[in-house]
Amino acid sequence: PSDPHNFIVANLFIAACVAVPTAAIAAQHEYKMRIYQRTLEDMASTDALTGLLNRKFFKQFACEELARMSRTEMTSAVALFDIDYFKMVNDEHGHAAGDRVLREIAAVAYSELRGPFDRLGRWGGEEFMVVMPGADAAMARLFAETVRAGFEAQRHDGITDVTVTASFGVAAWPASRPIADSAHLADRALYRAKRGGRNRVCVHGDADRQAAVA
Ligand code: GH3
Ligand code: MG
Ligand code: MG
Repeated sequence: PSDPHNFIVANLFIAACVAVPTAAIAAQHEYKMRIYQRTLEDMASTDALTGLLNRKFFKQFACEELARMSRTEMTSAVALFDIDYFKMVNDEHGHAAGDRVLREIAAVAYSELRGPFDRLGRWGGEEFMVVMPGADAAMARLFAETVRAGFEAQRHDGITDVTVTASFGVAAWPASRPIADSAHLADRALYRAKRGGRNRVCVHGDADRQAAVA
């Protein structure tokens, strides 16, 4: 008759032979699923052309930000910018060249963000939005001015010798306001920047103050 001890050892051995690879396969599967899920999430939140946040996820971020602002009694600022005469870039150099200019512009703006705090999103075709948590309108104006100068200095080799500029609208974003309201005020300031000759920054409220002084 066989030794019962040997029998137990043999069974444990068989169990281990099954369990260890099964656990390894399960772990690997879980790992792959997590990467897959991350990829899907990134695809859903990212604008494919520029790699920036798309409008839908930018709004989601803004909702979370507004909740944080209410908790911490913090205020923020938003800056909206729109490329000047972008239709001409497309018309003169083609849509693919226009796409490359959009990517290059996005990279310049991205490089000026304050670390992980600011968020830059593609708001529309050639329109971009920045949220600056904790900033006031004056800080946002400085940021916008730096980005504006960055665009002016940026060369788009092989596409155009002409610099591609943008116009900016800035507005404060207090916790009492939904982002849509501040975006609307920034948009009105942006419209003033366009009308004023483009390649400039306008801040919501400044025109009223100037009007009051005059
Ligand atoms: P303005 O200074 O008044 O902003 O003039 P503009 O020519 O930039 O404005 P307009 O709204 O007339 O044109 C915007 C153009 O942007 C039209 C559209 O074809 C182009 N556009 C929007 N999205 C994209 C894109 O993803 N790629 C390319 N290549 N062009 C785009
Ligand atoms: Mg536009
Ligand atoms: Mg434009």
